[in-house]
Amino acid sequence: MGKKGTEIAQKGGINVKELIKKLNKAYADEWLAYIQYWTGAQVIEGFMRPDVQKELMEHAGEELGHAQKLSDRIIQLGGSPLLDPKDFFKETNCGYLTPKNFDVKALLKQNIDGERCAIAVYNDILNYVKLGKDPITFHIIRGILGDEIEHEQDLEDLQKDVNSK
Ligand code: FE
Ligand code: FE
Ligand code: MG
Repeated sequence: MGKKGTEIAQKGGINVKELIKKLNKAYADEWLAYIQYWTGAQVIEGFMRPDVQKELMEHAGEELGHAQKLSDRIIQLGGSPLLDPKDFFKETNCGYLTPKNFDVKALLKQNIDGERCAIAVYNDILNYVKLGKDPITFHIIRGILGDEIEHEQDLEDLQKDVNSK
């Protein structure tokens, strides 16, 4: 734990324990999003499969990158990232949608739902660490939120192309 670093967040009026809890819930979401994208990319079938598969694998990697950023920040704040994958299912905000229907359209739909949930979650955390209170977490979460908005857009664009067949 970075003592002075944590102090800054505390002095900014942040309940650090509560913030760590929120970051860990988002961390659980990121791992489940990673797995959902990755597994979906393995089994995907149908129109424009190669394009969508590539995008799903890219997003999987980016979700794992988000998990890394959240883990780094949780540790800086004196916490520990969730260590047992069973806890991902207990703590998740957005859940895990098993890719049961392998069709491109179905997989795009369920991952768009996931992105919309992620956007709402990060927007809430951003409001919690309002600018000035914890500028470091604010900056990290703002960056991740930007990525999630891009993810939603990427998938919506592909959905449009698939539907125009
Ligand atoms: Fe993410
Ligand atoms: Fe995403
Ligand atoms: Mg993308």
